[in-house]
Order: sequence, then C-alpha cells, then structure tokens
Amino acid sequence: MSRPGTPGGQPGPQRTGDRAAAASVPAQAYAELTAGNRRFVSGAPRHPNQDAGHRAAVADGQHPFAVIVGCSDSRLAAEIIFDRGLGDLFVVRTAGHTTGPEVLGSVEYAVTVLGTPLVVVLGHDSCGAVQAARESSATGTPPPGHLGAVVDAVLPSLRRAEAEGVDDIDGIVDIHIAQTVETLLRQSPVLAAEVAQGRCAVVGVSYRLAAGVARPVAAVPAGFATLDVPTGSADPAAAA
Ligand SMILES: [Zn+2]
Repeated sequence: MSRPGTPGGQPGPQRTGDRAAAASVPAQAYAELTAGNRRFVSGAPRHPNQDAGHRAAVADGQHPFAVIVGCSDSRLAAEIIFDRGLGDLFVVRTAGHTTGPEVLGSVEYAVTVLGTPLVVVLGHDSCGAVQAARESSATGTPPPGHLGAVVDAVLPSLRRAEAEGVDDIDGIVDIHIAQTVETLLRQSPVLAAEVAQGRCAVVGVSYRLAAGVARPVAAVPAGFATLDVPTGSADPAAAA
C-alpha cells in the first residue's frame, strides 16, 4: 500500500511507498512510539509536529502511524506520553480501554482506510475501571447507569486473572491489556486479516502513571515487541 508523505512534517515510519520497506513499517511505527516515550520519561520531549507549519501541512489529509486504543484516564494523554503531534496518532479512548462496535469500527477505519500499521492497547496501573469491576464483582453489586457496560467488559479479564492466580490490581491490569489485544483481534476479522498479512501489528502496553514508562505486555504477531513479561503473567517487580 502506498503511503504518501506529509509535506512539511518530520519523517515518520509510515512515509514510504516502497514494498520492501513497507514490510517493516509496523516495527518502525513501534520504534517511533517507544523513542517518544523515552524522550517523555527522560524529561526531554521534542514536541514534534505541533507547530503552525505542520498544522497547515496535515490539513488536507492524515496518515497516522499508530492507533491508540487507550483508557480515558486523564493522565494517559497519548500525544504527551509518546511525545508526538498533529496527524501522528489515531486515538480511541474509553474507560478501561473497553471495546464495542464503535471502537472496532474506528480501529478498522484507521487500519484499512488510513493504512495505519500499528494498533496499541494502552492501559495503566491503578486503573479505576478495573478497580470498579473488581469491587462490583466482590460485592455482587452492579454499578449504576451505563457504568455497568464498562464493568461487564472488564469482567472476563477478572475471571482470567483469578484463573491464573493473579490478585494484585496492577497484575490484573496487565492481564486486561492482553485480554483487550485478543478481543480486538477476535472481534475484528478485518484487523486480524491485516495482521496475518503483515501489514499491521497489535501491541498491548502497560503505562506507569508516576514513572511515565510504557512497557509492552502483549503482542501479535508474537515476538513483535520485546516483552518485559509474558502475556497474562503477573509482574511482581513492576507492581511493587
Ligand atoms: Zn484506566
């Protein structure tokens, strides 16, 4: 797939029409994100693609290099924590990165229409949605209103955590991130086909609110990202 460049923008991993180079575009996109997170963590962000010239340059079209399916938590602003700017990230956020038809449709739009080569599920420690689901499950009391839909979407992750003997909140969060990666691929054959054909990868990333560090905990295809912990496993060191 040809991916035209963005005039006036900084070089990005999606800006190549070369067939051989395109095969490594998902990896380039992930490298771009991790580099931005390192800049953010170190306190030396570059704030790329946020100037008036770039704003004008991307007005006629967008070619984001990553889709972020993240929690809505106000401390999880994607462009800030990955040090990116306008036109770089296609962001879909719900409480607890729960998914439904509109989320799936948004992801499919980015991947198939915009040609975005990377989908990142972005969760974080101390996630309120996961805590709410845990409390609801423990007390047997469903939350009021539409919050119930969020809790219901997290419950399968709680059951998986219980089956794996994980009971600390941040270990459960990591399992929920991995579960969300699997859910996206299971519920979207369109996304699964893009991944199977090597045009896209899906990575689950766990973010630490205080440190600002984003680390991979799940990836499809397997081995795409260097995982700090195996999928679905607790990470006692990180939860401490
Ligand atoms: Zn959250």
